[in-house]
Amino acid sequence: MESHQVRILSNEKVSERYWHMIVDASDIKENVEPGQFFHFLCSNSIYPFLRRPFSVYRIDSDRNTLEFLYLVKGLGTKKMTELKAGEKIDIFGPLGTGFHLKESDSNILLLARGVGIATLAALAYKAVGKNKKVIAILSARCRNDLLAADYLTSFGVQVYKVTDEEGTSDLHKVKELINQLLIENDIHALYTCGSKRLARLMQSIGKREGLWGEIALEENMGCAMGVCFACLCHIHDGHEAKSARVCVDGPVFPLEQVILQ
Ligand SMILES: Cc1cc2nc3c(=O)[nH]c(=O)nc-3n(C[C@H](O)[C@H](O)[C@H](O)COP(=O)(O)OP(=O)(O)OC[C@H]3O[C@@H](n4cnc5c(N)ncnc54)[C@H](O)[C@@H]3O)c2cc1C
Repeated sequence: MESHQVRILSNEKVSERYWHMIVDASDIKENVEPGQFFHFLCSNSIYPFLRRPFSVYRIDSDRNTLEFLYLVKGLGTKKMTELKAGEKIDIFGPLGTGFHLKESDSNILLLARGVGIATLAALAYKAVGKNKKVIAILSARCRNDLLAADYLTSFGVQVYKVTDEEGTSDLHKVKELINQLLIENDIHALYTCGSKRLARLMQSIGKREGLWGEIALEENMGCAMGVCFACLCHIHDGHEAKSARVCVDGPVFPLEQVILQ
């Protein structure tokens, strides 16, 4: 992996809190996999000093572009919104371990909360390309935040939307929805990102149903190269718990292995 100066093709506000950036990836020779991320130098000034990590939302190999969907949160992402098409941005990557798709799994279920869909969308696209049936539950505060729903539907994902504003996103209701989907579909694998609460639900359902799965974790990150240990999480290793670095050991981990606090 290395640092790339890529040209921004577009950087647009897509809802009240979310922006979408497309960059020219023709100089990036490494293979980029769903679940992997890039570490962005958000501005040309000294602040913010630390880079910020963003998962690839869409990998378009025909156009040689990479797309990122980002929630404007603090200084780094605010600075990113000031970048214009035609300017360059320094992105370091691709980093981390991506998602795995098993040949034998023909139906998969995705559960994303908020911007977690930015991480799962590329997986959904790849899975549909491999003729898998993809069902996605998107959970968000409000309908305006269900950004990727139309995009996912456009390439054949069966999308279910739940929101806080409509009172459809609480744990009990999401559990009922998943149980119903498991009855109606022969689900083989579970993938999740964006909420530890929902991930715990997926873990318990995976255990109950004997299904394997994966989770993409988000932790505050420093170097993203495994050196600073800022992004530690805890995973089961046999009967013991051990620390793992989200940046290099993840961000994608086996669902049953992570200890979600
Ligand atoms: C693997 C991964 C993939 C991600 N993918 C996406 C995505 O696709 N879309 C998306 O919207 N979000 C994604 N995120 C979350 C995203 O990286 C954060 O929302 C983003 O870093 C926020 O940056 P900010 O500067 O706007 O916010 P801030 O809260 O200001 O800063 C965020 C982080 O910067 C670092 N930081 C800032 N100041 C300091 C300090 N003084 N000391 C140490 N550290 C500091 C910390 O890591 C801090 O948590 C991902 C996170 C990870 C780990």
